[in-house]
Amino acid sequence: MNSVLHVGIDDTDSPRMGCTTYIAALLVCELTELDCRFVDYPNLVRLNPNVPWKTRGNGAICLRFTCDERKISQVIRHIVTTVKSNSDLADRRADPAIAYLRGPVSPELAAFSKRVIRSVVSIKEAQRIAARWKILCIPLKGKKGIIGAIAALGETLQSDHTYELITYRTLRNRSIPRNIDPESVLRMNRETTPLTFNNIDPETNRILITPRGRDPILYGIRGETPEAVFKGHEMVKPNEEIERWAIFRTNHGTDDHYSTFSKISDMCPYRPVVVAGGVVGRPFTIPGGHVIFKLGDDSGVVDCAAYEPTGRFRDVVRKLVEGDLIEAYGGVRKGSARHGQTLNLEKIGIMDLAADCRYQNPHCALCGKRMESAGKNQGFRCRKCGAVDQAARKISVETERDLALGIYIPPPRAHRHLTKPVSRYGREKAGSKVLVVEPWHWP
Ligand SMILES: [Zn+2]
Repeated sequence: MNSVLHVGIDDTDSPRMGCTTYIAALLVCELTELDCRFVDYPNLVRLNPNVPWKTRGNGAICLRFTCDERKISQVIRHIVTTVKSNSDLADRRADPAIAYLRGPVSPELAAFSKRVIRSVVSIKEAQRIAARWKILCIPLKGKKGIIGAIAALGETLQSDHTYELITYRTLRNRSIPRNIDPESVLRMNRETTPLTFNNIDPETNRILITPRGRDPILYGIRGETPEAVFKGHEMVKPNEEIERWAIFRTNHGTDDHYSTFSKISDMCPYRPVVVAGGVVGRPFTIPGGHVIFKLGDDSGVVDCAAYEPTGRFRDVVRKLVEGDLIEAYGGVRKGSARHGQTLNLEKIGIMDLAADCRYQNPHCALCGKRMESAGKNQGFRCRKCGAVDQAARKISVETERDLALGIYIPPPRAHRHLTKPVSRYGREKAGSKVLVVEPWHWP
């Protein structure tokens, strides 16, 4: 019995070209021809989306397969050649690396991967893990890429996971606009949800399966099972040639980047966090349409921001009032000279609603008109009839809350890859044995 080989690949793409998943789809095909037998779908592992030096979605890949012992060095050489020739080595932001492990994934390596998904990890720490677990690292340029490549090895997606079928364009089409039949996407969405998700943005009706950058992806269909994403793929009508496609198993849509609750005083820049606390004061809108409110717990207070692209999510945030108890999910933005750290909201859970009380001036006892203040500690005066009431106090007026408890998430067009969409709540998978079911790639 040959032991399983795990090959992690990261950081091959730059904003102007390339895509690590495309290299994986190429390798699936090439390695199959070298008699490698895949024991899992290619894993697409999204790492901490808040690190500032990421390229686009911060996704790494792991291929897990068995092959003839005598062919291992040939296979690794082949992988290095393919990664090299498809990486944007000229771009300073791309830092491609390959990591290679034989045999089982240790719990310590798995824990390292979670840290890369949930926080910020140093190259030194990655090198220590590699040395301890006999992981062979092949950095093609600098060393930064080895962090993601090793993290991909260790994230075996044992708990919740989803699938994405990604199709790729032919080389000659990659510089022209994508062409797929929008009607077919709408139909596919109607007939396959909720087993597929994030196909369409419901607020804008924008098609989300096609990316907008210059990468080789034509479209990607996300879903709960390989069968569901394949069914979706069969329903979409592209008006251009598909060069290849493959199904990936991934942590997309799983909230894998969130662990337990953090205290506000423990928040660190670039980390995804969940904070439970009470709303302080009222939310306000700043230029650009971003909505800000203050959240406090027993350790401190932090600004939370719902940015303009989060659309109607901001309407929910605007309805919060002082004392509402919420769970805020998001990435921590570094503080600057002008303001402290900000929690960039990715979703909120409303756990308890406070009374929405506003204080108003009392009405005049004689004529019923609203009075005005007569000065500090001097009661109220009526402008209409001249009455003065020294004893009058402001009155508290409670407004009924137009907000329900529950989870609120921005529209899919504003999601991170890792954000768990509403449709996935209650569909989380745990510990299910994964079988690679044909067809899962083409050619
Ligand atoms: Zn009056």
